[in-house]
Amino acid sequence: MSGPTRWVYRFDELDTVEQTLGGAWDSVRGLLGGKGANLAEMTRLGIPVPPGFTVTTRACLRYLGGDDAVPANTMPTEIWDQVLAALGDTERKLGKRFGDPSTPLLVSCRSGAKFSMPGMMDTVLNIGLNDETAKGLIDRSGDEHFVYDSYRRLIQMFGTVVLGLRDELFENVLAAARTTRGVATDAELTAADLRQVVARFREISPRFPTDPYEQLQLAIEAVFRSWNGRRAIDYRNAAGIAHDLGTAVNVQAMVFGNLGAQSATGVAMTRSGATGAPGLEGDFLLNAQGEDVVSGTRATLPIQSLGEVLPQAYAELQEMAGRLEARYHDMQDIEFTVEDGTLWMLQTRDGKRTATAAVRIAVELADEGLIDRATAVRRVSPAQIDFFLHPQLAAEARAKAIEEGRLVATGLNVSPGAAVGAVAFDPDTAQRLAADGRKIILVRPETKPDDVHGMLAAQGILTTRGGRTSHAALVARQFGKPAVVGVSALEVDLVGHRALVGDLEIAEGDWVSLDGGTGQVFLGQLDTFVPDISDTWLSTLLSWADDYRRLGVRANADYPVDAQRARANGAEGIGLCRTEHMFFATDRLPLMQKMIMSGSTTERREALDELQPLQRSDFLGLFRAMDGLPVIIRLVDPPLHEFLPTFEELSHRITDAKIRLSAAASLDEIDGLLTRLRHDEDLLRRVEALRESNPMLGLRGVRLALRYPEILQMQVRAIFEPACDALEAGGDPHPEVMVPLTTDAGELRKAREVIDAEAAAVFAERGLSMPYLVGTMVETPRAALTAPKLAAHADFFSVGSNDLTQTTYGLSRDDAETSFLVDYLRTGVYDHDPFTSIDPDGVGALIDLAIDAADLHEGFEVGVCGEHGGDPTSIGWCHEHGLTYVSCSPLRVPVARLAAAQAALTD
Ligand code: PEP
Ligand code: MG
Repeated sequence: MSGPTRWVYRFDELDTVEQTLGGAWDSVRGLLGGKGANLAEMTRLGIPVPPGFTVTTRACLRYLGGDDAVPANTMPTEIWDQVLAALGDTERKLGKRFGDPSTPLLVSCRSGAKFSMPGMMDTVLNIGLNDETAKGLIDRSGDEHFVYDSYRRLIQMFGTVVLGLRDELFENVLAAARTTRGVATDAELTAADLRQVVARFREISPRFPTDPYEQLQLAIEAVFRSWNGRRAIDYRNAAGIAHDLGTAVNVQAMVFGNLGAQSATGVAMTRSGATGAPGLEGDFLLNAQGEDVVSGTRATLPIQSLGEVLPQAYAELQEMAGRLEARYHDMQDIEFTVEDGTLWMLQTRDGKRTATAAVRIAVELADEGLIDRATAVRRVSPAQIDFFLHPQLAAEARAKAIEEGRLVATGLNVSPGAAVGAVAFDPDTAQRLAADGRKIILVRPETKPDDVHGMLAAQGILTTRGGRTSHAALVARQFGKPAVVGVSALEVDLVGHRALVGDLEIAEGDWVSLDGGTGQVFLGQLDTFVPDISDTWLSTLLSWADDYRRLGVRANADYPVDAQRARANGAEGIGLCRTEHMFFATDRLPLMQKMIMSGSTTERREALDELQPLQRSDFLGLFRAMDGLPVIIRLVDPPLHEFLPTFEELSHRITDAKIRLSAAASLDEIDGLLTRLRHDEDLLRRVEALRESNPMLGLRGVRLALRYPEILQMQVRAIFEPACDALEAGGDPHPEVMVPLTTDAGELRKAREVIDAEAAAVFAERGLSMPYLVGTMVETPRAALTAPKLAAHADFFSVGSNDLTQTTYGLSRDDAETSFLVDYLRTGVYDHDPFTSIDPDGVGALIDLAIDAADLHEGFEVGVCGEHGGDPTSIGWCHEHGLTYVSCSPLRVPVARLAAAQAALTD
């Protein structure tokens, strides 16, 4: 389209903009800025947005750069003329006139760059007010307080943003007015007070222009210039936003929700932010301004009541909610105003939600056809899935507490989950006590950004004020902390470090239990449980995730009960059973110690014979729980001394027994003490004999199995006998034996000979056989570097990324995270904790070697079974690098399923 350059576009001219730019949304955003493009988009959708127009980023650049005709930082006439034309159009649309006292139009002037730069640039509201239009507006609204408050805000914003005056000048006047009136907040000042404030502001700000057009022009120019303000430049440098884009300026009619009984203002979500249930959820106030709703100074009404008082506006709001969801393909958080019966939408954005709501909304939006299933899977974060692994209050405990009168108050249920802890009334105390391992509930009148450290340290958050959109509610939801807000029955006495509910006093340190899902607050410590994953929406979403993911998800499970839970959570087998965990059980440790203390192979075999049946029954449980799925059982890994008391503990026990012996009164007592003393002295000798300077690099893993083949044989028998039992019982066991800490092909060859021989012996005795696999862990750099040789003796690899990280970095996995690693992370020496997420450069390169070696063998699987297997970032890496599966704790399985699907969807 030819013709003069367009510097200004009305919100209803999106089609024109698109035609001019060839339709690309990115260039539309580039020209109109993000906010302007959105306002135009809403207008095109028929959403009632207060009319207005966008002065383009191109106009900003022209203004800032100047040209031959007009110097920099001067408003070119052709831009201003287009502003005036668009303003005239806005006037006509509303039947109001800018600067006309009888029907005054007020406008806002806001920056809006292509990329959002929250709070970095300037805004001026209520442009168009002067002494005359203020009077006109008082006549129309009958609300002198509101008008003078709007007026003083204009002068203050104009003074600071446009005229460069310091904000304290204005704040001092307000503080003085509050002192004189004896009130705490500006809202409590009277209309007469505000009129005086306006007069004082005018004195402070003599250059404040009373001509509305001059106000508008100067405001637009100031917003243009704010692109080059210090804050904006710093922000762009930090966010990597180009400096040559410029900002657009949106000039929009102000609408007022406080023009009488037919006016209202409110906020709403198009679905419940707490549960995801369909239908509007929100609050509004009749005859009020937006700030009144958010600040919590007046008690809001539930959005459904709008249907009773302003039915038409409510019906329209519901319709708009549907339209916005259809356009933005997501639940929306909207701000609206009803001015004299007319509904205006002021803002829409994707709504914040709890994990429960996120899952339900994603599934229902897909079912409603607003998004596809892949999008639904992408919409929920692994951290949100993690929420389902958070405890909830046990039903019986709740019922009992109610019966005993311990339900002391109820507030808004803004962030689900149960939290039980001792009360702390300030964030520092909460943080300090939590650091000592105490469970804390942070109780505050309301929360502010300063409180966030205490909120994060707490199990849950309780506030006496605030609503669903309060800081406490938003922050709690974001971090998945259970929270109950707006518990008005509770009064917090911060000075006295106590809270009162009627006559009942809750002191700091008293236990309370919260239910963020119901809003209930109980006295005392209620039992909690971890929710099951049977929830319909979650299981639907995860089943969709399974359709996309290619990475397998198995569980690290040591006991049958873990295996059952893992399978219920969707695990496709056991990727790691750490057999030594079975030996640590109290009934088995003495047997294990007896085995370690044995002086001869025969003695050792006897002790092992006692251990074997116990292990057998555990393994049978695993095969049953994972019937039809692989069960990887790892041979005992840690050095033997870990099963014995420490050298220090034994020395202490021996000294103690000797002292008691010298004071013993009876022969019986002497006998008992002597027996214990001898036992401990024997143990000490053994501990000394087993003592190694570097036990983690010592006699452990496969080395132990080769040094004591009878231990290896016992374990293999304990695996294959129950596998035969399971098979005979009609089951489908898939035993896989895994050799730990292999560093050389020779070790694996030798271990495998013993394993195969013992398995063959069991099969021969039982007169049956079954397929099984023998594999090795890849836990040392040498194992990875010699992977092709190891693969010759193995059927699979499983990367023990905990040890592999330890041995690759030469960094103790037991000490580093509480030692210098903390400083490394804080000071940025390391960009991440390698024990949390796989180090792609070093550890990852070694894993790649194992994958390459495995690729040479048909059907050779490589999994990761270290803690990284439950970390979404590492799961993404594993997917990209073609691993077969990850194995993680049973509770992380759902998280891993989702993360694996999301990784596949980013391909
Ligand atoms: C590992 O090292 O990653 C592993 C899974 O074994 P463990 O943690 O038992 O040493
Ligand atoms: Mg290991």
